Amino acid sequence: MEDVLEISVNHAKANGAERIRKITICAGALSNIIPKWATLFFRMVGKDTIAEGAVLDFITLPAEVVCRDCGKRSEIEVNPPVFRCAHCGSGNVGLVSGREFRVVSIEIGIDR
Ligand SMILES: [Zn+2]
Repeated sequence: MEDVLEISVNHAKANGAERIRKITICAGALSNIIPKWATLFFRMVGKDTIAEGAVLDFITLPAEVVCRDCGKRSEIEVNPPVFRCAHCGSGNVGLVSGREFRVVSIEIGIDR
């Protein structure tokens, strides 16, 4: 989350912003990000920065695997994670998405 703060503050400053209003974050279902805790932590590290008071908006991306046996993609259970093909039942799968964690947009403002 410190990275999110740093990226956001740098981006905002580069754009002449004095305040960050909202940060939208994409988090994969397997990224272990719990929005509630991430928000609390962000408030703590963002205190006394231009990101103080910013709203965090989380978009959860489903976890997907691709099957090495039938070649099809399927969305998997994540709680707990089940790495298995939904089409043929094979466990010979590779993760294609679900662990991403990135800032997708930052809403900035200028106080006057
Ligand atoms: Zn399969």
